[in-house]
Amino acid sequence: MGTAVGAEPCIFCEIAAHRGPAHVVYEDANSIVFLDIFPFTRGHLLVVPKRHVDRLVDLDPSEYAGYFAALAQACRQVETLTKDYNVGLNQGPLAGQIVFHLHFHIIPRYDAGNPFGPMPRTRLSDADGAAIVRELGGPIPR
Ligand code: 5GP
Ligand code: ZN
Repeated sequence: MGTAVGAEPCIFCEIAAHRGPAHVVYEDANSIVFLDIFPFTRGHLLVVPKRHVDRLVDLDPSEYAGYFAALAQACRQVETLTKDYNVGLNQGPLAGQIVFHLHFHIIPRYDAGNPFGPMPRTRLSDADGAAIVRELGGPIPR
């Protein structure tokens, strides 16, 4: 946990170790869920294993159940906002991965537009972040 990769500390390791700021909606011993800082939509979440691994295939099979439970928990929280959402995983730069610490995206959908079309992204404000965490019933545990 809290592993630095190369010269640069990994931003998601920093958040997992509470050394970096984030709007956390759920956390347990092995996983942490927080708001994406450049959300595609309101309530866009990232589900992150605390142990630094780049890719899903790097997880140990003993970690699958706990990580999937955190993903399902985060989906349950998103469902207080909307029943429509995408769950996604970008693996590798050609797939759009820019943070090389495993994370599933949960992207809530609020309208009938093309969910895969281009979408503007504006930086999450602290005030919005705090309000959304509250709407999601978080942070869990309090
Ligand atoms: P990727 O493209 O690697 O699947 O997604 C990385 C996501 O992490 C992006 O959606 C980006 O907005 C988000 N992100 C990058 N840096 C930070 C950060 O420091 N804090 C938070 N909360 N999200 C970040
Ligand atoms: Zn990391």
